[in-house]
Amino acid sequence: MEITTRLHLLDLVRRAQQATAAHTAAVRAAARAATATAQARAHADELAQQRPTAQDPEQASDELDEALAEYADRLRRLQSAKNKVARTFLAARTTNRTLSASYARHARGHARATSRDEIAADLLDELADTPLEMMDAAHAILVQSSAGKDSLVMLHRIATWAEKAGCLHKVVVIHIDLGEESEWPGVRELAQRQAERYGLRFHVLHAEGGLLGLVEKRGMWPDAARRLCTATLKRDVANKLLRQIAAELGLDAQAVILNCMGIRAAESPARSKKQRLAIDMRTSANSRLVLTWHPIFEVTDRDIWQEIATRALEYHPVYDALIPRLSCVFCVLAPFAVLVRAARLCWALGLPLPARYRDLEAKIGHRFKQSHSLAEVYGEAERLEREEGPLVWNRGDALRQHLCDGAADNYLARIALAA
Ligand code: SF4
Repeated sequence: MEITTRLHLLDLVRRAQQATAAHTAAVRAAARAATATAQARAHADELAQQRPTAQDPEQASDELDEALAEYADRLRRLQSAKNKVARTFLAARTTNRTLSASYARHARGHARATSRDEIAADLLDELADTPLEMMDAAHAILVQSSAGKDSLVMLHRIATWAEKAGCLHKVVVIHIDLGEESEWPGVRELAQRQAERYGLRFHVLHAEGGLLGLVEKRGMWPDAARRLCTATLKRDVANKLLRQIAAELGLDAQAVILNCMGIRAAESPARSKKQRLAIDMRTSANSRLVLTWHPIFEVTDRDIWQEIATRALEYHPVYDALIPRLSCVFCVLAPFAVLVRAARLCWALGLPLPARYRDLEAKIGHRFKQSHSLAEVYGEAERLEREEGPLVWNRGDALRQHLCDGAADNYLARIALAA
């Protein structure tokens, strides 16, 4: 199947999903309207029964009139909600039928998919298997880079494929800077160097206030179930740029945008449920089809480090202090031991963040995590400092830990040569 046909069918999937979601929302709204109408009716009936025996007949009459007016208004709204259910049902049925018919026509001979989800999975799998073709068909390729090890390997792969496909000019690297009170020093500069290695365009977006600002404003820490930090500080900021880039393309036809992220299945059970390639329903629209692409989804931790070593890719030194992720210094998802190590690394680097975070926790009166507070993290870090002395590490320790001494020595020699 031609790639343009695949993309067209994916847009039909998007439209069908959107129409189905609109119908589901309309059904829910109609159910709520029906309940509100029944309540208004019951209230009016009650007042009507009470009126003959009311002490103040005039007031009782007024109240009944008001209740009847409310009931009439609710009835009107219920009818409107029912009309919307009917309209959205027809729209959903039409778009889903159009999709099935188009897919069957184009995929004749090898089509097995029947449901909308199967059709989407079939089309997305085929696309993800042909990255060069996909990049060639895209109008813009955004690479969201945290400068961490996964972003680094993803960026290397995207740049390599883009060069082969003659698409380097379409690639834009985006880095979201959460500020020095949230992140480790040198992250933004490193992200820029990583992008410049391939001659790619680089954009920094600033998430105002960073993690601390968000927590101070809300008076609570985010958690795994409500990762407001990711949504507010990263996703919303990136999506704004994504819409802007699509608009600037100024195409008459629908723009196809690849939004690349360095997420891997091995990172967590939640991430393993994601797909290599997915339609971004939130930012896609008739004018743009946005595909979220996880190009290193199936890569293991060891393979990430192997690729960093083999290609001599510059990684952030916090990994050498055996901090496993280049996230916020005190990430709400990090385990206790990592937070303790982060506090000790801050002290080794002369950063005031541990006390700043501990004090904020005390100020807002909301515990960092149910399982442990930042005060406990701070206390344990202090205890280890007393027992073991300040944290020490050497450049290359991450490679020594994940690969071997030889890989680290070879890497350091190559990095030194390139400098
Ligand atoms: S790194 Fe952790 S704390 Fe920072 S935004 Fe992501 S999930 Fe939230």
